[in-house]
Order: sequence, then structure tokens, then C-alpha cells
Amino acid sequence: MVKYRANIKKGDVKLKTFTEVLLNYFQKLNINLPKNLEIDNIQMDSKKVEKGSLFIAINNGYNYIDEALKKGAELIICDKSPTNESEKIIKVLNSIDFLQNIAKLYREKLCTKIIAVTGSEGKTTTKDLIHGVLSTKYKTQKTLGNYNNQIGLPFTLLQLKESDEIAVLEMGMSNLGEIDLLSKIARPDYAVITNIGDSHLEFLKNRDNVFKAKTEVLNYVNKNNTLVYGDDFYLKNLEALKIGFENKNDYIINNFIEIYEGVNFFLNNEKYFVPLNGLYNVVNASFAIALGKIFEMSYDEIKNALKNIKITSMRFEKIEKNKILFINDAYNASPVSMKMALNAFSSLPLNKKKVVVLGDALELGDKEIEYHVDILTEALKYEFDKVFVYGERMKKALDELNNPKIIHFTKKEEIRDELNKTGDVAVLLKGSRGMKLEEIIM
Ligand code: ATP
Ligand code: MG
Repeated sequence: MVKYRANIKKGDVKLKTFTEVLLNYFQKLNINLPKNLEIDNIQMDSKKVEKGSLFIAINNGYNYIDEALKKGAELIICDKSPTNESEKIIKVLNSIDFLQNIAKLYREKLCTKIIAVTGSEGKTTTKDLIHGVLSTKYKTQKTLGNYNNQIGLPFTLLQLKESDEIAVLEMGMSNLGEIDLLSKIARPDYAVITNIGDSHLEFLKNRDNVFKAKTEVLNYVNKNNTLVYGDDFYLKNLEALKIGFENKNDYIINNFIEIYEGVNFFLNNEKYFVPLNGLYNVVNASFAIALGKIFEMSYDEIKNALKNIKITSMRFEKIEKNKILFINDAYNASPVSMKMALNAFSSLPLNKKKVVVLGDALELGDKEIEYHVDILTEALKYEFDKVFVYGERMKKALDELNNPKIIHFTKKEEIRDELNKTGDVAVLLKGSRGMKLEEIIM
């Protein structure tokens, strides 16, 4: 196996401050900024503006310029003519372009190592796991929540401080060219691709295009610094560091045992525990371990960090309510992640009856009903105690399947009442964000 070493040098590059970057940017455009400018934070939400803020008015942020000024904003960028005459307001052609340009220039001045995490499923979880491990040794930042798009990613970059050693950034996309743009801005030093699935087919149509779109990041990252899920049909042929269950991988996962609290497993003959369920999370955790090694952490350091990890909510989150154990995985859903969740739920060691509640998976394009039929067929294989479905796509799929074991509900309250009647059960909630299945837990 090749050994990779990160080269984190502290304080060997003299960094300019963000304000200097900003002054330079506008100087080139022959725009004068107010004298003695001192920016110490950057905001897109006027509610968060305070003294020293640079407020970038994006979309309807324009309506909050007065509020930002009152709150003491140091400078305001907008792309429509301001009604207020303050010298603190600078008009640019396009606020989003400005945000991206300035983030790119600022990033160039930072020696922070940037790790980009992309893939169809598991980006947020993997990002949190990588951050959870690396932050125990290095000053590490990460994308907040799901800020993974053309606005969220540059905004995250602008929050970095010169002293940040590592930043783990999630890169999302719904079409070709988007990951390319994010990579141009963030110039990642490392890339992680979790898998190639069926999300965003509305625009991309097929997995070949998903593969093309996700791998755009690789034009910017050295293959020695690229980590992928090596058992994936598409990713297995890439030149990269591969992680997976099959023996040909550089990092091989085996001997996994799932318990209620999480999974015990071995990665290249070293034993770890991750307090998350589902084998897909062992893959996600293995990316964090591999990066821990790359960043020269010891086995004990990595093992202990992983054991204590906290993850963003609504990802297979266990919640007890009125004697019902909810497994809230309702943050989002795609055909792949639904199957993953069904599998993880079925293998969860529990002495309880198991009920699954599945909501529609959105953004699947023309074949959406076919995908839903496929998901329901998979759900039936596990012989759960009950399968409840919610949403019009699920309804259409059920009409095609015509299986009496699956019950369709039109109201979440009805699902809740039905569950309360049953009592002492474990319930998996899985559906797209738009379905808000977590509302069933009350
Ligand atoms: P989004 O595109 O909404 O930002 P994401 O890629 O950030 O999603 P997560 O939020 O981490 O993904 O996980 C979403 C769901 O995907 C999880 O609840 C789980 O069911 C499934 N999942 C997580 N990791 C993987 C993986 N490595 N492979 C396949 N499915 C996964
Ligand atoms: Mg995400």
C-alpha cells in the first residue's frame, strides 16, 4: 500500500487578511472602498450582521440592506441599485459571482488543507466523521449543515481563519459543471467520493452522467490524494486510494459486527468502533480513518476519536417517544439510501417488532414510479412487521404492486395513531426532505 503524508506546515506562509484581498479585488475594478476598512466577519443573513460585518446581499438580501446598516455593517455588497446613499454600499454586477470570486481569492491565500467530500449519498455523514477524527488533533473546520452548493461552499470558505489547518467541505450538485465550479473555487487538496447513485436524475438522467459530474473534482486533485469507495461499479476503475469490503481495495473492511450502539469492524486488521448503524457508515467511517492516517494520526488517536463521534441529526437517529423507538433517517432519500436504510434497520439487533414508514423519494425524473416499485419490493423482502407508505409516488407504486402487506396513508397523524395503537415497536422513518416524515414523532 502506498503511504501518503500530508505536509502541514504551520506559519510558513505569510497570509494576507481578508480585508486586503477585498481591497485588491476592488482596486482592480477601480472601485474605492471606504478608508480604514476592517472586516472581521462575513454574513449573508442580515439577522447575523454586527459591527465589523461584510454583508453580501444575495437574492432577497437586498431588502435587508437598511437593517444591516443599522446593525453596524462595515461594508455591504449588492447587485441592485441601493435606495440608500451610504458609501458603505458597493454595487457589483452579480452578488453570487462576487461571493464566489472573493472566496476563490481568499482561499488562494490560505494554507489550510481542503478536503472535498462528494458522492450521491453519505456526504454530510462522511464530512462529519472526517471532521470528528481530524479535529481531535488539528484545528479543523467543516461545512455547516448542508451548505454544499454554489452559495454555501464559498460562504463556508469565507468563514475560515488563517489559523485553520484543515477544512472538510461538502460538495453537492444537481447537474454537470457544478462540482467543477465548486472545485475551481475551493481548490481541494484531497477528494473523497462516497458512491455513485441515482440522486438528481431529474437533470442528469442516468448514472453515467452522475459519475461524470461527481468526478469533475478529480481534475483538481492528485490521484494519490483521492479516496473513493472501491466496491462501487463506477468508482472501482478510478486511479485512487480505494476503500471497501472487497480484497482488492487499499483499505479493506472486514469482521464487522453490528450492535445496537453501532458497529465494531476491522480496517486493514486494525479494530475500530463507530457509534453509528448501517454498514454504509462503516465505509463512511473508513474514509475518516484513512484521512486520519494521511494526516499522521496514530491508531489510538483515530480509534478514540471515532468512538466519540457525534453526527448531524436525522441520520439514523434513535429517538424514544411514548414507548416507540423511532429511527429517524428522514433527512433525505434516494433509491440507494432507502435500500441502505432498510438493510441497516433490518440488521439492527432489537427485541422489538419492526415497522417501516417510507415516504416519497423526490427528484427522480421519468422513471420515478419504477424506482418506488423497486424500493417497495425490496422492503417486502425483509419481512418487517408492517410497511406503511406516505406520498403520491408511493401510492402509485403500491397501486402497481397491489400488495396487501403495504398500507398507504394520506395523513401523518393517521400513521402516528396507528403506531401508538401498536405500542412497543421500532419504527424506521425514511423519505425525501420534502416529505418531512419526522413530523410523525410527536
Ligand atoms: P444530500 O445530497 O442530501 O446532501 P448526503 O450525500 O449529504 O445527502 P447524508 O445526509 O450523509 O448524505 O446521508 C443521507 C442518507 O444516505 C443516509 O441517511 C443514509 O440512508 C444514506 N447513506 C449514507 N452514507 C451512505 C453511503 N456511503 N452509501 C450509500 N448510502 C449512504
Ligand atoms: Mg448533505
